[in-house]
Amino acid sequence: MHVLCFGGDFVEVNGTLIWYYNICKREVWLMSRNIVPDQHNENIDLGKFLHENSFSRKKKEISFGSVKFDVILDTKDKLVIGETKKSSKYEAASKWQMMFYLKTLKDAGINAEGVMLYPEEKRRDEVLLDDTSIQTLNNMILDINSIIEKEEPPKAEKCKYCKNCGYLEYCYA
Ligand code: SF4
Repeated sequence: MHVLCFGGDFVEVNGTLIWYYNICKREVWLMSRNIVPDQHNENIDLGKFLHENSFSRKKKEISFGSVKFDVILDTKDKLVIGETKKSSKYEAASKWQMMFYLKTLKDAGINAEGVMLYPEEKRRDEVLLDDTSIQTLNNMILDINSIIEKEEPPKAEKCKYCKNCGYLEYCYA
């Protein structure tokens, strides 16, 4: 578990923060401060994130903490966990979130592989954890910690995700 304390509150670096880190670092800071984005606009990233992460699941699931996955394949040699997504628009963020869960499983002594499923695009991408991705994840966790520790959020920088972001007004009003 990667826990950071600020102002007496504890923030756990979890899959959600890894997801946001790969969308916008300013969002990481805002989420860590419980600054609630505009959730009324159904096009916002958070709405999509919540929807995609509660997308209908098959019966066979694995769960740890608050996270649940479809089990695609579970043999003596191999566990493959899957996530179904509506679209690949956030594929890098989703891949690193999956990597984070694979690493969490690995830390618990369970070797697993991941697969991202995009049924509407007829796509299936394998996600494999290796030493390089573990190192990248460790660097992300360190960077998330340093973002959260700061008194001020990173400056708003226009990016392709801004137009669907719940913090749009907060950042640019
Ligand atoms: S509006 Fe843009 S800069 Fe502001 S938090 Fe959202 S993605 Fe980041």
